[in-house]
Amino acid sequence: MPNLVAIVGRPNVGKSTLFNRLTESRKAIVDEVAGVTRDRHYGKADWNAKEFTLIDTGGYISGSEDEFEGEIRKQVEIAIREADILIFVVDATEGITALDEEVVKILRRSKKKVILVANKVDNNERISLAAEFYKFGMGEPFPISSVSGFGTGELLDALAENLEKVDEMTPEEEQIPKLAIVGRPNVGKSSFVNALLDEERNMVTPIAGTTRDALHTRYKRFGHDFILVDTAGLRKKAKVKEDIEFYSVMRTIKALEECDVCLLILDATQTFDAQDKSIFHLAEKNRKGVVVLVNKWDLVEKETQTMKEYEENLREKLMPFRDVPIVFMSALTKQRVLKALEAAKEVYDNKTRKIPTRKLNDILLPIIQATPPPNIKGKFVLIKFISQLPTKNPNFAFWCNLPQYINEPYKRFIENQMRLQFNFTGVPIELVFKKK
Ligand code: GDP
Ligand code: GDP
Repeated sequence: MPNLVAIVGRPNVGKSTLFNRLTESRKAIVDEVAGVTRDRHYGKADWNAKEFTLIDTGGYISGSEDEFEGEIRKQVEIAIREADILIFVVDATEGITALDEEVVKILRRSKKKVILVANKVDNNERISLAAEFYKFGMGEPFPISSVSGFGTGELLDALAENLEKVDEMTPEEEQIPKLAIVGRPNVGKSSFVNALLDEERNMVTPIAGTTRDALHTRYKRFGHDFILVDTAGLRKKAKVKEDIEFYSVMRTIKALEECDVCLLILDATQTFDAQDKSIFHLAEKNRKGVVVLVNKWDLVEKETQTMKEYEENLREKLMPFRDVPIVFMSALTKQRVLKALEAAKEVYDNKTRKIPTRKLNDILLPIIQATPPPNIKGKFVLIKFISQLPTKNPNFAFWCNLPQYINEPYKRFIENQMRLQFNFTGVPIELVFKKK
């Protein structure tokens, strides 16, 4: 289960530096999530075998003091709502400021775990400075230096310990496919969810008993059994007046991490832009199944070739991961809404399928023999056999004599062949070449 950890605090206390320190040193996948006004840092890290996702809430650099305060408050409020654990950063060298106190007030109102960090403790003399923040009533502050790395081990230990306490789903719920509905604002996410849910509210069972109950809805209908991730949040959205963009980025990341298959909704009347692309690649990098839904299809003037042309054009933009289902639909008229779910189910099946070793080898070895890996520096690579690894996502080991001489184009060739031979539509697959 993913654990979302948000770094909050007023500007210039060292949030970004801490983010980099905690992720870089852990070889994390760090991504920029494209937004309209600015990009956000988001990264995965692990410590003591516990994985977590870190988000740097950043700070506004422009605006007057008043505006500024308002913005920080909004960001902290959103972070509180969305994250499981908060790291509250203050600057030990500056002591307590009015803005810090503002943040404290907001944090106090929440029930989420807060880890207080006094940053910029670059030398032993500064350790005593951290004690002042004890006044916040948030426990002993962790003295750290994001620049030197001092104290970050202890901070991570405390974090890992608290991660354990974040509720998880029951084993039964773990077995049910989880779908996340993602896309930039106004593409029709809420409308799509409503199209699925509205008619028969009693088919919808909110999952109780976890801290996440507000975020998951069970959808059991027409032979489908899914958990829709974050739909409650979607329906509540209208009430949220905060920074929509920040909210949507936080939510997208969270929903993406929690799902098996993500339904990326696009607006047929808009061009596929950097934000759409960024969400698509996040899904791919996180090894989630993907279905692309082109919504508002009712608004598009159609001629015979319109859909085909749109689809070809879109697939080009999804390169290199173009083997994904694309469904043209309308949340408004409900056209192909169920087809979208069927595509999601198919992708889930593709993602969870285990291919017997015998079948893998019978099909792939002849292909490899016909087109063996190219000789590189006169080295002859012999692939002996293939097996699927017992991982959550499709991952295949190719056992060979000289794995280091397999190049990217050949890997790509094998992946394409596998996509032709087996159904992996909508699923990122991983190939590893190992020595045998
Ligand atoms: P943010 O606005 O909270 O994200 O803060 P930044 O990470 O951008 O840091 C603000 C400034 O503080 C930068 O000049 C950093 O180099 C500096 N800084 C961050 N962490 C430390 C630290 O541990 N020690 C010192 N001396 N400076 C730091
Ligand atoms: P969200 O921000 O992604 O949740 O988007 P909403 O579901 O709130 O939809 C944004 C706007 O697009 C609303 O005015 C919807 O009525 C409209 N909309 C959503 N889906 C469709 C569709 O399939 N066709 C048309 N014509 N409008 C749609």
